[in-house]
Amino acid sequence: MSALYAGIDVGGSSIKSLVIDEAGTVVDRTAEPTVPATVPQLESIAERLVSRLPGIAGIGILTPGTVDEDRGVVGFASNLDLAGYPIPERVSAATGRPARLGHDGRGAGLAESLFGAARDFSSSLVVPVGTGISAAVCLPGEVWAGATRTAGEIGHIPVFPDGEPCACGQRGCLDVYASGKGIATRYLAASGSETSAEEVARRLGSDPAADAVWATAVEGFALVFTQLTLAFDPAGIVLGGGLSRAGDALLPRVEARMREILAWREPPTLVTSLLGESAGQWGAAVHGCYAAGSDAYTGWRP
Ligand SMILES: [Zn+2]
Repeated sequence: MSALYAGIDVGGSSIKSLVIDEAGTVVDRTAEPTVPATVPQLESIAERLVSRLPGIAGIGILTPGTVDEDRGVVGFASNLDLAGYPIPERVSAATGRPARLGHDGRGAGLAESLFGAARDFSSSLVVPVGTGISAAVCLPGEVWAGATRTAGEIGHIPVFPDGEPCACGQRGCLDVYASGKGIATRYLAASGSETSAEEVARRLGSDPAADAVWATAVEGFALVFTQLTLAFDPAGIVLGGGLSRAGDALLPRVEARMREILAWREPPTLVTSLLGESAGQWGAAVHGCYAAGSDAYTGWRP
């Protein structure tokens, strides 16, 4: 019987799982609310998966926060009771299967770079834009974690010095102007109307407040992507998360602005995520392969 690999992706509001077979076919999906995530909840999810699908050979778990993949420990994760526990050992003891821990953003980037929108790029930045903005710095077969395992926190690059305050304590951060939450907050301040960033995108061209807030978000992305391009020269930048669905309102405008700023080189290719919001679950399943010592993921083509 073909082996199966489970990926569990812990998010702020839900914990989603995928089980994938050797050929890359999804054979099972689950989702349940994060209540908040605790190690017993992860043990319980993994136990239920394995009892339903005994062919599971390895389990990968992605979490937000500061994650040390090699030691299998979460250092800090706001709103989640996961820090300091030997999570892979606990899940493994509960299921009798090898388990491995990964970071949510790096795991999603890993999946995009192995078999998603960044597959054909020799190096890339995978940037999910949701409540906040982060980037996975993807090199062939690996994602750069950094000296303190916090690489990619590009949402806190100051784009407008002395700008509006950010929850992190700095001012003028990209998150304030261009994250889903930032766009919605600034649109509310400008218009008095409470709505989502996606809806702000739909109002472009007919609502001056939406146009103004969106233009600042585009400028913020263009400034940060230009700096990252000059620093790292990535072959491509992949935009994911809810805001990537804004389509022509976002990527072509960011790319056009980067062309204006960059005088002596072309911007890298900008594309939309292929795996979308399931990138983390696919990345978790890759960690499931790692745990089982399998390279089945190299043939996966979602
Ligand atoms: Zn900040």
